[in-house]
Amino acid sequence: MSEYVISPQKQAEIPVKGSDKAFPVRRVYCIGRNYVAHVEEMGGSADRDPPLFFQKPADAVVSSGSIIPYPGKTKDFHYEVELVMALGSGGSNIPESEALDHVWGYAVGLDMTRRDIQGGGFPWEIAKAFDRSFPVGPITPVSETGKIEKGKIKLKVNGETQQDSDVSLLIWRMPEIISRLSEYFELCPGDVILTGTPSGVGPVVPGDKLVATFEGLEPLEVSIN
Ligand code: MN
Repeated sequence: MSEYVISPQKQAEIPVKGSDKAFPVRRVYCIGRNYVAHVEEMGGSADRDPPLFFQKPADAVVSSGSIIPYPGKTKDFHYEVELVMALGSGGSNIPESEALDHVWGYAVGLDMTRRDIQGGGFPWEIAKAFDRSFPVGPITPVSETGKIEKGKIKLKVNGETQQDSDVSLLIWRMPEIISRLSEYFELCPGDVILTGTPSGVGPVVPGDKLVATFEGLEPLEVSIN
């Protein structure tokens, strides 16, 4: 290890359920347009286009219980509830048949979005990859959940259900996401992958309380300030 000329920033991490240990985050990958009803609400067609991948920085992670300041440069700050896979191992060109063997655990998260500056043919950086744009609940190890292929995913805002779907409705299923993503990037331990949001996305305002749930996982609760 080199001696650094300034202090390195803290390693991004996600708490692990039932443990005082944490999962160290290397990269945060996301897939867009991955539930038919959400593609349609965004004005797209539900044809099976190639998967749309993008990233958030690792330090965009926000843990459950946090208060998120309403970000600048938007008047349309949106939630997107998503199931999150956390990888314990990786590789390149991973076959679908082996893909889920790389999953260390699962969590429920939010792909927070500046909706009013997404699109227009520009890179998604400032719409998707900004500070505190990835609230995520504690990770539950796959040893406890088993490989997840279905399950209810929900988001409530101020107690009212806004998103309510099932991950069995993913267009690109989780083994396909890992396999396709590993054709573009070498996946590594510590990478986490958001699997896309169902329909019902919408705006939040200061004072809102968000509760994201996936059956069998720890909930995620955050407030907007
Ligand atoms: Mn998303």
